[in-house]
Amino acid sequence: MKLFDLTGRVAIVTGGNGGIGLGMAKGMAVAGATVVVAGRNGKKNAAAVRELERGGGKAAAIETDVTDEGSCRAMCEQAATRFGRLDILVNNAGISIRKQPEAFTLAEWKEVIDTNLNAAFACAQAVYPHMTKAGGGKIVNIGSMLSIFGAAFAAPYAASKGGIVQMTKALASAWAKDNIQANAILPGWIDTDLTKAARQQVPGLHERVLARTPAGRWGAPDDFAGIAVFLASPASDFITGAAITVDGGYSAQG
Ligand code: NDP
Repeated sequence: MKLFDLTGRVAIVTGGNGGIGLGMAKGMAVAGATVVVAGRNGKKNAAAVRELERGGGKAAAIETDVTDEGSCRAMCEQAATRFGRLDILVNNAGISIRKQPEAFTLAEWKEVIDTNLNAAFACAQAVYPHMTKAGGGKIVNIGSMLSIFGAAFAAPYAASKGGIVQMTKALASAWAKDNIQANAILPGWIDTDLTKAARQQVPGLHERVLARTPAGRWGAPDDFAGIAVFLASPASDFITGAAITVDGGYSAQG
């Protein structure tokens, strides 16, 4: 057994068409997995597939809106039919709406929870029969520093990301018998489209992140290639229910 080899494995990455999702997709493609990019935006999906192929990887795109349970299930079925198996699910698609708690509409609250938490559950349910058929699998859920900390401007986001960690532990407990490992990654502050918007909307955020991060920089999507390969590969077979920070030390310092 090669510890970090993903040859022959099929991996779904929701929101794999940019940012952290694409960083993880690139790592897994280089390690040998066939990567299914499941995002809403067809142009971004196609560009991501081209980038993965340019790197020597195998990839395909399936247009998916993760807030639609039917779309999640159809994407998983299509991927399984096309590639014959499903081994790895990365629940990465995510959004944030930033405002004070009293200013949120319930519809905005639900939109964030639907995208960040409910979709991850729907996708996990959809891949479960395929993973059991394959003799096991790996589920990687993307949390946040707001899985741990609160933030005045992000009530639904923090609720969704706290929920991701607890859901991960529940899936890990339930499906260990099926040789499925479920773990969460908690990114620190990473330079992506999501945080470009945050930097515009939250005054002083950029400086605060730099000052608090011991590594002295914002993270990059490529910082997630290694952890994705690790959690998707046999190297992590006895690790389940964990929430691993990838944050340049942000959460380590008080
Ligand atoms: P991006 O905005 O770059 O990526 C978000 C991705 O989610 C996009 O690819 C987008 O695809 C996809 N997405 C959003 N809504 C849907 C939907 N309804 N259906 C399908 N796909 C959807 O952000 P990041 O790379 O930063 O974020 C990735 C994950 O990492 C998120 O879960 C985020 O919460 C988390 N995270 C990010 C941090 C950071 O500092 N950047 C910190 C902590 C966590 P499309 O454009 O096609 O809709």
